[in-house]
Formats: sequence, C-alpha cells, structure tokens
Amino acid sequence: MCKLDPYINVDPGTMNPGEHGEVFVTDDGGETDLDLGHYERFIDESLNRGSNTTTGSIYSSVIAKERRGDYLGKTVQVIPHVTDEIKDRIKRLAHDDVDVVIVEIGGTVGDIEIVPFIEAVRQFRRDVGRENVCYIHLTLVPYLAPSGEQKTKPTQHSVTELRSRGIQPDVIVCRSDQPISDALKRKISLLCDVSIEAVISAIDARNLYEIPLTMFEEGLDTFVCHTLGLDLENHPIDLSGWEELVERVENANRVTRIGIIGKYVSMPDAYLSIVEALRHAGFAHGAKVEFDWIDAELVPSEIDIDRIHQLDGIVIPGGFGERGIEGMIAASTIARQAEIPLLGICLGMQVMVIDVARDLAGLDAANSTEFAPTTSYPVIALMAEQTDVADLGGTMRLGAYPAMLQPGSQVAKLYGAEVASERHRHRYEFNSRFRGKLEEAGLLCSGTSPDGRLVEFVELPGHPFFVGTQAHPEFKSRPDRPHPLFNGLLEAAMVRLEGRAPHLIGIDSLA
Ligand code: GLN
Repeated sequence: MCKLDPYINVDPGTMNPGEHGEVFVTDDGGETDLDLGHYERFIDESLNRGSNTTTGSIYSSVIAKERRGDYLGKTVQVIPHVTDEIKDRIKRLAHDDVDVVIVEIGGTVGDIEIVPFIEAVRQFRRDVGRENVCYIHLTLVPYLAPSGEQKTKPTQHSVTELRSRGIQPDVIVCRSDQPISDALKRKISLLCDVSIEAVISAIDARNLYEIPLTMFEEGLDTFVCHTLGLDLENHPIDLSGWEELVERVENANRVTRIGIIGKYVSMPDAYLSIVEALRHAGFAHGAKVEFDWIDAELVPSEIDIDRIHQLDGIVIPGGFGERGIEGMIAASTIARQAEIPLLGICLGMQVMVIDVARDLAGLDAANSTEFAPTTSYPVIALMAEQTDVADLGGTMRLGAYPAMLQPGSQVAKLYGAEVASERHRHRYEFNSRFRGKLEEAGLLCSGTSPDGRLVEFVELPGHPFFVGTQAHPEFKSRPDRPHPLFNGLLEAAMVRLEGRAPHLIGIDSLA
C-alpha cells in the first residue's frame, strides 16, 4: 500500500491532530497519514514508513541528492527529478513477495500540488507497460434532493482534467448517498469512455467494514483483476472471512457507552485508531460502542462528573501539551474511586500515574516535567532528567518496543503472554525514581522494558480495570482480532453495564 500526500510537510508528525486527524505510527517508527491505519485494518498487514510519501519528503531527498552532487551538474527539475523520485518510492514497495502495489493519491484532481504525482503515475504506465497499471478515479456524484436528480457534471469535469494530464481512467468509482442507477452508469460510461462494468457505485455504507463487500458486489475486484491480468481462475476471490466479520458487526448491538476524555474531542479523527479499536473489541463482545466525547478542559465541572458516572468505560488518549491535563487527572481520580473501567494510553497512563502519586502516595502536586518543569515530584520525566544521559533528552521514542509483562498481572492475562510489542510515540517516561513509592501506594508496574528500566504498563489491583500503557496499542487492533487491552476494557465495561460478576480478569489473584 502506498499513500502519496501532496502536502509539503515532510511527514504528518508535526501536524495538529485537531486539524489533520491522528498521526498513525508504524512498527518502524514512521509517523504517517491516518489512512495507513485503514490500510492495515483492511488488508491485515503491518506497513512501514515507506508506505507514506509527501511532497515534503520527495523534495527533501531531491534537494539532499542535489547537494551531494548526485545529479552531476544537471538542472534539477520537477520532470524528471521529482517525478523519478515519486516513481522510485512506488517501486521500492514492489518487493519479490508483493503482487500488486496499490497507490492512493490524496487530494483532488485539479489541486496545484497534485500535478507532479499525476504526472509520475502517468509515466509509470509507460515504464512498466499498459497491462500492468489500472487507474481508478474516485469522484463524487451529488444528489440534489429537491429535484431528485444525481449530477454527473463533477465526474465529467474531473475526468476531463485527468485526461488533459494524460490519464484516461480505467475505472470510475462514484461516491454518492444514493445508488447509481444503470441509466446513470451508462451515461458516465459514455461521457467518460470507460466500460459500463467499470462504473462502480459506492453509496454510503452503514458501517465501514461493509465497503469491501459492496465493492465486490459492484464488480470492482473482478474488473481490476482482469485489467491487470491476475489469474482469477486459480485464485478465486474469497471474502467469506470478511462476510463473517460484517455479520458480527451487524449483530453487535448491546449499547455500551465509552467516554473519551481528551483535548481534541471536537475532531474525532484525532482518535481514529482508538475509536476503531474500541469498535473491534465491541464486535467480539456483541457490543455496539457509543462514544461520549468529553472535553478534558471542562472536567471536573459538576455536569461532567455526572456524565462520567453514566459511562461504562473510559479511555484517556494520548496527547501533547498542558491543555486539559488537570481535567484528565481528575477523570482518572473519578474512575479510580467510582471503579469505572479506565484505559490510559500514553499521556493517559501518565495522568493515571500522577493521580495515584498525588492521591494515594501523598506526593502533593506530583506532575510531569512536561507540564511543571520544576515540580518536586516529577513522577513523569524525560529520560535525560532521570539518568543524566543528556543525549536521550527530548528525542521522541518512536515505533515498536517489546515489554516484559509481570506473570499473573491483569495485562499478562489479557495478552496471554509474557512479552508484548507495541508502538510508541512520546518523549516522557514513568520516572523510576518514584517506582518504589508508587508501588507501596498500590500501583502495580505490570510491564517494563526488557532491561527493566522503563515502565510500560501500570495497573491497580483490586480495581475492575485501571490499566495504563505508555504505548499506543490502538494501532495494532484489527477488526477480526481486537487488541487485548481494548478487549479487557470492553469486558469490564460490559460487566459494569450488566452488573454481572467479572469472569475474564483474575482481579482476586492480584488483590
Ligand atoms: N506528551 C507525552 C509525551 O511526550 C505523551 C505523548 C503521547 O501521548 N503520545 O511523553
């Protein structure tokens, strides 16, 4: 899979999640577009940073090559140097064990920044042969409710624009809130010069996971395989596993309310993988997860305390910066005292540690040095502040790291393993100077880095589910293989919902 993003940022790592949505982290530590998360969830393969390319990353390598003299004194230009670099990024993904590279160009035909990408994929077909490329163009077919008509004009316009850039699409996928009738398909086929079976109706689906089945029914898979000469006879399309998943999705209807208490709650895409991971756990439990988006800056007003008590479970997600921190700490206190299941992710774990430090360990005004650099109890701090190893300070810990889980702990039971590998994206860490004090106060450091220095998981024995992780488990959840921690949260949430006895997690053995 390959996502080409025409924006100028080198990667989305520095972009505001409130504007652009979450940053998706790959095993190799790539900070990538959230679409890579969709790709991983749909094709069930882990990708790496090479699957996301931006204009910024293309230009930074072209300019680095120019400075090194790699272009041997030539004038460096968009064609061929920038377009060659784009094509290289696509070709690099075509390892020996790859049959097809699927490339998505973000943005809209007609954007200024998109032109080099369109030119690169135009050239690509010449380079690798016509029969080895299939162009799929996604358009919008708006429905005008007052007159009850669907308009093909935007499709005609964008196809004209594509053709002026030398690309004739093989397939046109029409996004619409109404099905595209056969008559309309004929019209699009005629005007845009694609065969009628290559006009695909993509109406709004009830749920995301239904889309591959709809596309299959519309004949997209078959048409693309034929165009690329893929052998359907010996490798017939088998979507039975996916059909079972969609059936589970449709049957998951026990409403379970999960609150997300964070600072980007007006932009749910900022927490996209968390939302998906909770839904996946819901599918496995027959639960339909309903989300309550709570702005951490407003906690703990009266109304929010009430609202939090109505929840079956809580997630405090990751984040950077001070805004909303005290609200998140207050939410952790409420969840801890009222025994509401809580999963803290990255920053979420850090605020849980601060809450326990202040309230159970008597470390007044304990904090993270990210928010209170001079606090007397820096229970969360940069590695450099903890160890004097200056060169580690301020660098982000990115990508997959293994953790050793304490046998018998809640997390070890949920993972069903003694080692877990999760993806990280943070600078601050649990300060091991305070580990003894916090453990005396009841916190269990249930997972650490293999050398034992970094605390990666915490939990509170005796609480139905008070689990924090320094990692981002949400990135590894798949629709048919929900993540153990989200499973644990959902299980505990449903116990709370139904008032039935806990049976999955061995709380008693730890109490
Ligand atoms: N701001 C915190 C840190 O840098 C948490 C980061 C996160 O939640 N991803 O450690």
